[in-house]
Amino acid sequence: MKILEINHMKKSFDDLEVIKDISLAVNEGEVLSIIGPSGSGKSTVLRCAAMLEKMDSGELIYLGEYAAHNTEGKSTYISKKELRRFHKYYGLVFQNFNLFPHYTVLKNITDAPMTVEKVSKKAAEERAMVLLKKLGLEDKRDAYPYQLSGGQQQRVSIARALALQPKILFFDEPTSALDPELTGEVLKVIKELAKEKMTMIIVTHEMQFAKELSDRIIFMENGRIQEEGTPEQLFSTENTRVKDFIGKFAM
Ligand code: ADP
Ligand code: MG
Repeated sequence: MKILEINHMKKSFDDLEVIKDISLAVNEGEVLSIIGPSGSGKSTVLRCAAMLEKMDSGELIYLGEYAAHNTEGKSTYISKKELRRFHKYYGLVFQNFNLFPHYTVLKNITDAPMTVEKVSKKAAEERAMVLLKKLGLEDKRDAYPYQLSGGQQQRVSIARALALQPKILFFDEPTSALDPELTGEVLKVIKELAKEKMTMIIVTHEMQFAKELSDRIIFMENGRIQEEGTPEQLFSTENTRVKDFIGKFAM
């Protein structure tokens, strides 16, 4: 089953055309990585998929249901009210963690299930503790984000995203803000999720990680998909742009 389908996405900011024509689909249990130079539009694709930005044209489909149709060359979104049920289909993990600084770890995780899904406090806390345990953060439930390392904060944001039991998780350079020694603990968690067949799109510069984990990799440049394939295909491509890009990252 296709969890997410994006067809002919286009997006401009004022006069700048950032996404020129992107189509992709992610099947249940699949890991898709997106690589490519800075400014190529990777974050914008994720932000449009998570409906933090609206596409100008193109279709957005979750689980076969249209969030946005393409009519006369323009995206038409379904009503706000109808869109509400789409928000639980996906979770987004940002580069800079984006935790609520004035909430404890536990409250960061239980807030959305309680407000969005109307889960009881008790049930939300039980679910949160299962996730914290899984991510090795049980003893941090009452800590505030500033009391945690970057790696711990990022694991809390992964727990927060998982708390809504999404069908797909989006990661936007989840380790770019971390020191190398903290990167590993976050990549390990994402690897675990992949083993459990969590459906994911991961924007990353961690080439070895992308190679190991992904079912498919997309190379984006200038708002377009320049190359797409299995890790084997991407890492043995004759396309010099892709080769040069991958070559810049020590493997
Ligand atoms: P990437 O994640 O691949 O580095 P982005 O999607 O962040 O690329 O950005 C693609 C282009 O869109 C860049 O030129 C960036 O400056 C521009 N851009 C992104 N978001 C905005 C915005 N909200 N307003 C104006 N320009 C933006
Ligand atoms: Mg980005």
